[in-house]
Amino acid sequence: MNKVKSELIDNQVSDIVVVGGGTAGWLTAGILAADHCAYHEHGINVTLIESPDVKTIGVGEGTWPTMRGTLEKIGISELQFLACCDAAFKQGSEFVGWRNGATDDRYYHPFVLPHFIGKCQAVDYWQAHYTNMPFAQFASPQAAICDAGLAPKQIQTPEYGAVANYGYHLNAGKFSELLKQHCCEKLGVRYVSDHVTAINNRVDGYIGSVTTRAQGDIKGQLFIDCTGSAAILLGDHYQVPLVSRRHQLFNDCALAAQIPYPAVDSPIKTHTVSTAQDAGWIWDIGLPTRKGVGYVYSSEHTTDQAAEQTLRRYIGQSLDDANVNVRKISFNPGHRQEFWHKNCVGVGMSAGFIEPLEASALALVELSANMISKDLPANLSVMPIIGERFNQRFNLRWQRIIEFLKLHYVLTERTDTAYWRDHCMAESIPERLQQLLELWRYQEPSYNDFSEIEEIFPSSSYMYVLYGMGFKKQMSNHLKHDQNPKMLDALFNQNRQTIDKYVAGLPQNRQLIEQLCAQYKR
Ligand SMILES: Cc1cc2nc3c(=O)[nH]c(=O)nc-3n(C[C@H](O)[C@H](O)[C@H](O)COP(=O)(O)OP(=O)(O)OC[C@H]3O[C@@H](n4cnc5c(N)ncnc54)[C@H](O)[C@@H]3O)c2cc1C
Repeated sequence: MNKVKSELIDNQVSDIVVVGGGTAGWLTAGILAADHCAYHEHGINVTLIESPDVKTIGVGEGTWPTMRGTLEKIGISELQFLACCDAAFKQGSEFVGWRNGATDDRYYHPFVLPHFIGKCQAVDYWQAHYTNMPFAQFASPQAAICDAGLAPKQIQTPEYGAVANYGYHLNAGKFSELLKQHCCEKLGVRYVSDHVTAINNRVDGYIGSVTTRAQGDIKGQLFIDCTGSAAILLGDHYQVPLVSRRHQLFNDCALAAQIPYPAVDSPIKTHTVSTAQDAGWIWDIGLPTRKGVGYVYSSEHTTDQAAEQTLRRYIGQSLDDANVNVRKISFNPGHRQEFWHKNCVGVGMSAGFIEPLEASALALVELSANMISKDLPANLSVMPIIGERFNQRFNLRWQRIIEFLKLHYVLTERTDTAYWRDHCMAESIPERLQQLLELWRYQEPSYNDFSEIEEIFPSSSYMYVLYGMGFKKQMSNHLKHDQNPKMLDALFNQNRQTIDKYVAGLPQNRQLIEQLCAQYKR
């Protein structure tokens, strides 16, 4: 074979190597293998290398509704997923104590979009007529479903189908195990249990292979860094810097605990509860067999001991805290300067991590893997074009995530601790968010504020947080066509009827999960 021909063949992307077997690694491998037929002799080869020495992070228990599409696409049945991953339905988040800490200080960010979205503007109408009704209760039936602890579907609803939009709460370790089994048995992913000790460049600076301790070199044309915060390819090898976002979102530690329910038939909450604390917030996630509870906090604003006391106090409301093991996880809030460098892409914690306030990390994994898969470069010569596009898209996504997470803090009326006061300092608030807040004094968030392709959070998410936190919009001086009160009356009444229908027809969350799991034959 002449030299030109052999170089061309070498440059074709036919072998993808995923390094890391956490949730990011397996989801990415699964999406690539399913889309590119790794199980077929003419499909692409996908190899996943996982170190037996380095544990996965073992947290990450909340997903977005996008996970339903991902699981369906890679061919996992919902029954199997629910039964094997100790999973439950999640319909959004409830934020407790973020505004002023009063006993009635709580609001929902549900997954169902407001009934008026795309039809008319409703904020003036809501402020004028339903000022005592929380915005989420006014705008969507889902707050009422969550309050009643109801499932988002019925037993006869098809797999992955929904009556009300939902994602999941799950056991992260069990989820990785299920993905691993499915990827290896059904999707044709080659699994290598070994520790990567070296990364070897070709003459052009692209990675040619990784060296494993026991099984030698593994070659490929595209390498996905899913090695978590170690980031051994993108960080260590290529030295792509981590852009710190600590000055905007201060949280850098978490204490995580698993606690049993008081009784085997205790209700399973159908949303994540995020309760504000002196120097951060506590997540409370209901799985069928236990709860996952954790305090995410800023080490600049409290000590580990004080944080643990806070968490134990919270848990102690329902349980004798002496029985609970608490695990500490530290992280550096930020993201890589670029995510795709030469023939290496960072996905998951290696690409970055910022507090799990809206559980966006796994959604970013899904988005990354899907974009890599859709745009999979045919050969190395077109890789820079794809890489640049990927970097632009994900830099924007990180910017938007930071802005949206920060929105949860900046409208607080709490001044009781330095943490909350510091969050409201102008220099900690991204400029675009400051501009939007100014704009939203006079108009409600709209599509035009978030008009990029595949925006990560829609304007309705901003509405739920903004008005949940008590933000007031100035009433318009004159009525516009799309603020037609008759149409709004009708939409509001329709929402009420939907609530009545759902409350009468949806089962309790635990009841449905147990019925579905009983149907699954292992
Ligand atoms: C406190 C906390 C709460 C979170 N909550 C949520 C949530 O509710 N929702 C959400 O979406 N996300 C959440 N996340 C994020 C989520 O946990 C991660 O995005 C997800 O688990 C993916 O992690 P990962 O696979 O990137 O990394 P890891 O799980 O750390 O996996 C890294 C993998 O790399 C391997 N590895 C490392 N070094 C080597 C080597 N030299 N050779 C070979 N293999 C190697 C390891 O063996 C391991 O398999 C949370 C994170 C934290 C810290």
